Amino acid sequence: MTEIPEDHPRYMSLVTREMLVKGVNDGITSMQGLIAQGRGEAFDYLIGEKTTGTAMRATKAAAAMLLLAERPVISVNGNTAALVSKEICELSKLIDAPVEVNLFHRTEERVGKIVKRLRSDGCITIYGDNPDRLIPGLSHDRAKASSEGIWAADVVLVPLEDGDRCEALIRMGKKVITIDLNPLSRTSRMATITIVDNIVRAIPNIHAFALEMKSMSPMELQEIVVEFSNAESLSRSLEDIAENLKKLQ
Ligand code: ATP
Ligand code: MG
Repeated sequence: MTEIPEDHPRYMSLVTREMLVKGVNDGITSMQGLIAQGRGEAFDYLIGEKTTGTAMRATKAAAAMLLLAERPVISVNGNTAALVSKEICELSKLIDAPVEVNLFHRTEERVGKIVKRLRSDGCITIYGDNPDRLIPGLSHDRAKASSEGIWAADVVLVPLEDGDRCEALIRMGKKVITIDLNPLSRTSRMATITIVDNIVRAIPNIHAFALEMKSMSPMELQEIVVEFSNAESLSRSLEDIAENLKKLQ
């Protein structure tokens, strides 16, 4: 890895890039994943490379929805594995949600390497290397799912998802929580809850909220979920960007 000086003004962003490049070299991230990160970074720049109040409220609603879920599952792709594998495993244990490797550019080799990475980072129940179901409405490889995992889930946390697949999961009647820096993406618009934030900040924040809210009653959690509106949250995210840009003028 290239050594990044800690006092560099864009330190975190550069470290994130290095992690993804390492992900590609290790065979867990696709080349296309680097381009997806670039699109995300552009939006991160626009929101000021920080977690906004809007994102924090969405994160809290997401934590509540995950705690209420009967069968929550965390979907992991190559970018997620490269950036937050340990943090995903910690969250998985805290909320008792298995993980499922789910790749847009699927190769069995990459699935195997991601499963290995997740296992060494502490994940216990890992699906995805033996899919036995196809999500309706998607082309074959992208449709693969496991009957015990995403197929049976009521709530799926799918960071950095593609719009098409998000829509297909919603059509199956699932609640979808996504993390996407682009408030305009199809995924952001389709999801039940969209956290407009960088995944490297959002996953630890979900963990912190879930830990704090674990003792709340289902009714209290339900109230938090019901009060949340994704459409409103997305339009606030766009306002956040506009305000941030005004400050810079
Ligand atoms: P959609 O299909 O939903 O319209 P898209 O085609 O623009 O989205 P994809 O390439 O399918 O995008 O998925 C990548 C998405 O993930 C992008 O919207 C990008 O903003 C977002 N993204 C990339 N890196 C990060 C990150 N580190 N944290 C949060 N979001 C990210
Ligand atoms: Mg897409």
